[in-house]
Amino acid sequence: MTRRELLARGGRVALVAGAAPFGPGLVELASAKSAGIFEELAHELRGDLVRAGAAGYDQARVLFDTRFDAVAPRAVVFCESLADVERTVRWARRHAVRIVPRSGGHSYGGYSTTSGVIVDVSRLKGVALDRHGHAVIGAGARLIDVYDHLAQHGRTVPAGSCPTVGIAGLALGGGVGFASRKLGLTCDNLLEATIVLADGSAVVCNTNRYQDLYWALRGGGGGNFGIVTRLVLRTHPTSQVATYALEWPWADAKAVVQAWQRLAPHAPDAFFSVLNLNAAVGGRPRITSAGQFLGTVDQLRALLKPLSGVGTPTRFTVASHAYLDAQRMWAGCSGTIAECHLPPQGHLGRSTFKGKSSFANQYLSPAGIDTMIRQIEARVSTGSGSGIILLDSYGGAINRVKKNATAFVHREALFSMQFLAYWDPSAAATPNLRWLAAFYAAMRPYVSSFAYQNYIDPDLHNWQHAYYGSNLDRLIAVKRRYDAQNVFRSRQSIPLRRR
Ligand SMILES: Cc1cc2nc3c(=O)[nH]c(=O)nc-3n(C[C@H](O)[C@H](O)[C@H](O)COP(=O)(O)OP(=O)(O)OC[C@H]3O[C@@H](n4cnc5c(N)ncnc54)[C@H](O)[C@@H]3O)c2cc1C
Repeated sequence: MTRRELLARGGRVALVAGAAPFGPGLVELASAKSAGIFEELAHELRGDLVRAGAAGYDQARVLFDTRFDAVAPRAVVFCESLADVERTVRWARRHAVRIVPRSGGHSYGGYSTTSGVIVDVSRLKGVALDRHGHAVIGAGARLIDVYDHLAQHGRTVPAGSCPTVGIAGLALGGGVGFASRKLGLTCDNLLEATIVLADGSAVVCNTNRYQDLYWALRGGGGGNFGIVTRLVLRTHPTSQVATYALEWPWADAKAVVQAWQRLAPHAPDAFFSVLNLNAAVGGRPRITSAGQFLGTVDQLRALLKPLSGVGTPTRFTVASHAYLDAQRMWAGCSGTIAECHLPPQGHLGRSTFKGKSSFANQYLSPAGIDTMIRQIEARVSTGSGSGIILLDSYGGAINRVKKNATAFVHREALFSMQFLAYWDPSAAATPNLRWLAAFYAAMRPYVSSFAYQNYIDPDLHNWQHAYYGSNLDRLIAVKRRYDAQNVFRSRQSIPLRRR
């Protein structure tokens, strides 16, 4: 029991009476009470409650990024039904226990863990098509399972490339991937969500019901308004897709960036492209590009000419794939779908990294490109791991949605820029974080003031504007209406008033 909770539940009396707040008697009383409240919850649940110290606790508590491994929640609740989530929220309110929702556990800021209780919805992972052809998806479904299940019906939803990301965390903050310029963001395809609010009651929101909440859930970010348990998404038919991979000598980097930024954001909607500049400490910098075209290889080859014709590419491959195979390739899944998960189910590993992001609403100037190149070169001798900048093409269907039509405001971007530092978990984080911060700061003069809320960054000072821009006030109003007590909060959750 935390000091705050103890005070809220009667410890106040002991303090007023002059007793030491954590004297032996009180500590025993507190832990007995604590055991009692957890037993109470365990009895109410269909799912499992894993308390600190119990078997499986260490596996249950960790996120994808090992940087947050030191956080020790009091318990992780594995909900198996909507009723489990409702009961857990009511229980938490009754006992003043801090809760945070978790779906896939990939929060860049570690916001899906807490010293309180994690409400995990990963067992709510069903994926089905309803009679309208819409996908009805449990909030905890992983992206690879969403792609896999829908592909069996020849359908898909636009989503991200990481196989283990949770659909809820992704969709609530936007959701960008290889089909987004054609089919929109994941949140643009959200037709309905079921959400458990701060009082423990569930509501279904869509265009007719709770419209303000429905608006906020499309880009307002996870962990702000309640715990989403079920999403209904528009689906699209799949077909063969063409993919490409390009690599150039580093000496071509400037010309390649220039050509890429003029092509990728303005290409036909069916095209999506990533430009990747990276370096590992002690290695050499590399520049590569990869992407997908919802069409034929011949069309893709023709479309790529302004890029593949730049410099002297050392690799240029184009291939045709079944839709699911292409998503598996982007996901890095060479084995079975079952293996394409984190342990204990699959073979994939966790990561130690930090990310930051910007949006380029204008072309990068020659000076901006030079800065980017120099910063990647600096990684070769700074820190202990690797450093990357990923440019994702926007435009197309993403930018045709009005800025205020959903809470996702970034509709004027030419491309997003993701700054990433990876290192070995046994190495010191500081030099790697320092390189990342310096890279980000050096690029500030050349980019917009916005950042992607799904690459949430606890170090970002102007985050309210950066994530939400002109949609912030409306998000605050929704927050006040549905979570006036600020039950669902993190360092960067939507506030109750402008700060
Ligand atoms: C390796 C990697 C690859 C990525 N690739 C992409 C990509 O291709 N495209 C893209 O757009 N993004 C990508 N992301 C970013 C990703 O979209 C976000 O990190 C997203 O928030 C992760 O969702 P999650 O459910 O896995 O994470 P979680 O950590 O579980 O949740 C993220 C946030 O949402 C809250 N939350 C979780 N579940 C719920 C719920 N059910 N109801 C309400 N709030 C909830 C959490 O409390 C937390 O604040 C990637 C991230 C990683 C680590």
